[in-house]
Amino acid sequence: MDESIFIKILKKEIPGEIVYEDNDCFAIKDINPQAPIHLLIIPKKHIAKVSDANNKDKELLGSLLLASQKIAKKFDLDDNYRLVINNGPKAGQTVFHIHIHLLGGKSLSWSPG
Ligand code: 5GP
Repeated sequence: MDESIFIKILKKEIPGEIVYEDNDCFAIKDINPQAPIHLLIIPKKHIAKVSDANNKDKELLGSLLLASQKIAKKFDLDDNYRLVINNGPKAGQTVFHIHIHLLGGKSLSWSPG
């Protein structure tokens, strides 16, 4: 299995602030935050990108969204936050291990394209 930079953080091989962990996934603070709160929700299983996932990953992918609810609550984001997944280099993906960006803590503008 490939070991991404995120798994190295999970294993504490490199520094990173883990703010949430369950059986399926974990969340860290983004090193280059784009909002007052910018977290990355990451499955423990290595899947490079959403377009590489398959039917066996259905439950795992769902659990990432459900984890985002708990994490948003933990960070007092109420119901105001944005979830983003970049898929592939042309869409801005730079780390090839699925992750959901969770952004919040201010009113967010919208110009992602
Ligand atoms: P992507 O561009 O793949 O959608 O998102 C990758 C994210 O990972 C970026 O927002 C980037 O700032 C973050 N990132 C890259 N390297 C590290 C690191 O070593 N530690 C942490 N905490 N975040 C990282």
